Amino acid sequence: MKIASIRTHYVRVPFDMGAPLKDMGGIKFPTMDHLLIELRTEDGLVGWGEGFGHNAIPATKAALECFVAPWFIGKDAGAINALHREAAQAFHILGRNGPVVYALSGVDIALWDIAAKRAGVPLHRLLGGARRDHLAAYASLLRYGDPQTVARICKKCVEEGYRAIKLHEIDVAAVLAAREAVGPEIAIANDVNCPWSVAEAIEQERALRPAALAWLEEPVFPPEDHKGLAHVRARGSTRIAAGENAAGLHDFRDMFERGAIDIAQPSVTKIGGVTEMLKIIALAEAHSVELLPHCAYFGPGNLASIHIAASLAKDTMLERLYAAFAESPYGKSMDAHEGRIAVPQGPGLGIEPDMALVEKFRWGDPADIT
Ligand SMILES: [Mg+2]
Repeated sequence: MKIASIRTHYVRVPFDMGAPLKDMGGIKFPTMDHLLIELRTEDGLVGWGEGFGHNAIPATKAALECFVAPWFIGKDAGAINALHREAAQAFHILGRNGPVVYALSGVDIALWDIAAKRAGVPLHRLLGGARRDHLAAYASLLRYGDPQTVARICKKCVEEGYRAIKLHEIDVAAVLAAREAVGPEIAIANDVNCPWSVAEAIEQERALRPAALAWLEEPVFPPEDHKGLAHVRARGSTRIAAGENAAGLHDFRDMFERGAIDIAQPSVTKIGGVTEMLKIIALAEAHSVELLPHCAYFGPGNLASIHIAASLAKDTMLERLYAAFAESPYGKSMDAHEGRIAVPQGPGLGIEPDMALVEKFRWGDPADIT
């Protein structure tokens, strides 16, 4: 069935992280922003996708509206693998990472939503089936910067039932305060978002050892320095995670071949959608690397991540940004209860957005590509 139209919705949803946040480089979080992609086929089926994200949304939206969405109009919505390959080739000259690929990722997610709806099954059934109806989630805290605040929020997470927490702290004191607050039984990871040289990362990994981290995420800048990351991993004793900034399957191949990471973290809204995720999952298995999807959003990309994680052979935790919403287009469907998130069982992604709330939180006009 042919793709008839693609509509973009930019929504900005207010949220609460429990305390004031520090900016993380160029990323600011005044609101939780999403680019929702509504894809319609000629016979009236609607699929939802999401392209990354946050401050990059105006650029992703422009890429989608100017040339990515028009390319897909009139093409066969059911030929996902072929379209994925052809689109990647058509647009490679415009960038193999960043807004162009984020836009392609969003369309790919919407096509998988439609494929599962057409089959009348939840997406995880098309991905091989899910043995579990809930996923363990880890609370992913943004950067508070203050050890006392970090300790207080970590305790709150544990009270709410989380057994694993990820910090985004660059100061050792804040990380040690988290460990002190929750004791030895709770898993704590730390995501530093690429601040250090290789030499600095080796030093910091050593300083962080008393916190007994479950993993250290993206210690090295630039993220494409896989050789440097492999050096940090070889010199340290903490497991190393990375991948949210990778450019597709081949970047992961390079990381795996160099022995750079213990945990691969592809992001479905950044890496090329569900189709690219499936390739990376297979490759990670071939290299005995654990896979934990990056999932720092609350739209169709989060739902797709839940279905993907649910379909894996091994139990995998889901990243759940520690943010509370009074209202959001997807309601409470991605909330964790006792540290667990339910796997949607409806057709496709399983949850449809509340269009009244999409209207309420809309930023700018929707664009229609036909
Ligand atoms: Mg990260």
